[in-house]
Amino acid sequence: MKIGFVGLGHMGDPMCRNLVKHGHALRVYDQVASRVKALAAEGCEAAASAAECARGVDCFITMLPSSPHVRAVYQGEAGVLSRVSPGTLIVDCSTIDPITAREVAMDAQAKGCAMLDAPVSGGVAGAEAATLTFMVGGGAPDFEAARPVLQCMGRNVVHCGAPGNGQAAKICNNLMLAIEMIATAEGMTLAAKLGMDPKVFAAIVNTSSGRCWSSDTYNPYPGVLENVPASRGYAGGFASDLMLKDLGLAADAAKGVGHPILLGALAEQVYRRHSVEGHGLEDFSSVILQYLGGS
Ligand code: NAD
Repeated sequence: MKIGFVGLGHMGDPMCRNLVKHGHALRVYDQVASRVKALAAEGCEAAASAAECARGVDCFITMLPSSPHVRAVYQGEAGVLSRVSPGTLIVDCSTIDPITAREVAMDAQAKGCAMLDAPVSGGVAGAEAATLTFMVGGGAPDFEAARPVLQCMGRNVVHCGAPGNGQAAKICNNLMLAIEMIATAEGMTLAAKLGMDPKVFAAIVNTSSGRCWSSDTYNPYPGVLENVPASRGYAGGFASDLMLKDLGLAADAAKGVGHPILLGALAEQVYRRHSVEGHGLEDFSSVILQYLGGS
């Protein structure tokens, strides 16, 4: 397939490399020129704008930071939807709010293009290993058309229903993850203060009822697990500011349907304070520094 791809950051770059590995012909664009250059060196065609990137491709994919970036790329006079060829299958993998996802999908439909929202979980490691989970909202035939492309980048590709439902699944998952991560940080640091060896305590939790992904796979306490951000100064991984963004999306979505998210609201405040204190670019497991202190 001829595929256009815009947004070549932490996630987009390795996703492109996996599409190339599967023999797809890629045309790529990012507002940071060095990111386009890096993929051009791997055989991708470089585009000079997002709209040019989308022209004449079979499938067009975006992996952008948030809703305003998605609107900027698709809508407006110079946006992708002003130039895209009818019949192009469009897939937005960014994590954004379900309302924006639905609106942009309707605009795409008006231009004769099917559009899916397909946010992912699995992080940078999952993007590199092509083991991402895709949560996909949109029409069933369009989902089936996109499935083989998404399977080049992920292991689980799940149809969540109507447009926007992929985003709904993603933000609810991350709401739970944020609360879980803070709970793990709180329990780990209290256990250490009470005299427990953090590694021994983690081993107990991980065979007990307190176990969760944050405790057994991504433990925030330094030195408990190897190859996690906690063991390399919280560098890389999933930025605290992106988690803060997702908690804001969950809060907006909950407000929209009149649903209380009590711990979610508290988690948003914890991550906001963490960001204000200068940890926004560090991995989200660094929230444990709210208990350990230090910078
Ligand atoms: P990133 O900031 O590393 O990459 C985003 C890229 O988009 C950047 O290269 C940026 O230059 C580019 N961009 C922004 N606006 C643009 C525009 N108008 N035109 C062209 N390029 C533009 O972010 P990321 O970590 O790759 O995350 C991307 C999305 O995936 C986010 O929505 C995030 O929430 C989601 N996500 C990230 C992770 C993770 O672990 N990093 C995990 C799951 C989901």
